[in-house]
Amino acid sequence: MALVNEQFLKLPGSYLFADIARKVAAYREAHPGRDIIRLGIGDVTLPLPQVSIEAMHRAVDEMADSRTFHGYGPEQGYGFLIEAIIRGDYEPRGISLKPGEVFVSDGAKSDTGNIGDILSRDNVVAVTDPVYPVYVDSNVMGGRAGELGGDGRWSGLCYLPCTADNAFVPALPDRKVDVVYLCYPNNPTGTTLTRGQLKQWVDYALANDVLIMFDSAYEAFISEDDVPHSIYEIEGARRCAIEFRSFSKTAGFTGVRCGYTVVPEEVTARLADGTRAALNPLWNRRQCTKFNGASYITQRGAEAIYTPEGRRQVREHIDYYMANARAMREGLKAAGIEAWGGVNAPYVWLKTPAGVGSWQFFEQMLDRAGVVSTPGAGFGPSGEGYIRLSAFGKQEDCREAMARLRRWLG
Ligand code: PLP
Repeated sequence: MALVNEQFLKLPGSYLFADIARKVAAYREAHPGRDIIRLGIGDVTLPLPQVSIEAMHRAVDEMADSRTFHGYGPEQGYGFLIEAIIRGDYEPRGISLKPGEVFVSDGAKSDTGNIGDILSRDNVVAVTDPVYPVYVDSNVMGGRAGELGGDGRWSGLCYLPCTADNAFVPALPDRKVDVVYLCYPNNPTGTTLTRGQLKQWVDYALANDVLIMFDSAYEAFISEDDVPHSIYEIEGARRCAIEFRSFSKTAGFTGVRCGYTVVPEEVTARLADGTRAALNPLWNRRQCTKFNGASYITQRGAEAIYTPEGRRQVREHIDYYMANARAMREGLKAAGIEAWGGVNAPYVWLKTPAGVGSWQFFEQMLDRAGVVSTPGAGFGPSGEGYIRLSAFGKQEDCREAMARLRRWLG
């Protein structure tokens, strides 16, 4: 008799973006011909950088010839991409990594969702609130979240509220936790931590034996000097942090799928008998068993962004999206709406008018302005009263959306 992992049954029925898609589809049906601008889901709209397209074409040609064909690759990723990552993303910031510390994957969603495989069910997990839902849902699946309460909080998780009241900087947990997920620059709020603020977290983690899961999927969007791109810029982080990165937003790889995770050799966690084990070999073992590598073609496409021309093309993409973010911040200000983010991240997080909830404002914005947003409440209880707008749309759409919001609210 097969028994179900009943933790799955605790999860709310559908994924946030499925709920939004359903509401938008119903609205479309009721208002055929209405022009709708989608600034909801965080998916890119520009095509792949030309360097990646050319590299992938070449890789396809290699696959077509038995002399250069590639079958299964290394589960950890090809050496050429790992070297490019270390040289391109870390060495310029004074961080040295060994090739065995970098694990290439099919994206940061898989890795942030799967990392719990190597951790005991007994860990107490802390998450910032609002939060990228994968951290919460994967810990529900792993049996670490307890029960979902009527207030939208899981009884077993420690929530670290991030709201305008604390300038979106989470306070250190006020109870013992074992694992904390930090995502900076942040999805959904678009805010960041300064070097000093992140150092407080690293110092806290080292002093309290806490493992930090640091998701820096949006590091390429950082524009301010005092915002760290990698947690390993902070002294001691190699002993307490795992870092997740993605090519999705940096290089338009949302549909191609490639990311990587850094597990330094020094990161350890405790065993029940009080001894410690390094996590790097465990993640390696997990990947070797359950993952067969990102495709050769994909990894050649990713490698290409580290060439001088690739860097230039990626910069152009990021500048395009960040110009959208700027236009959105300015447009919201002109419409009299308080907003955050959009300086070091491609998301703008705005406050709904007093007394109007996230979902209500989402529906009003759709109805009155024809703009699709994401209700902040979908990212956690502290997201209530906020809305997320994504800067990944087309420039003309972002500008038109702001003009509509100004007409509606201004
Ligand atoms: N981490 C964060 C914070 C994200 O916002 C996203 C995607 O939206 C991901 C990870 C997933 O990235 P990937 O496309 O590499 O799976």
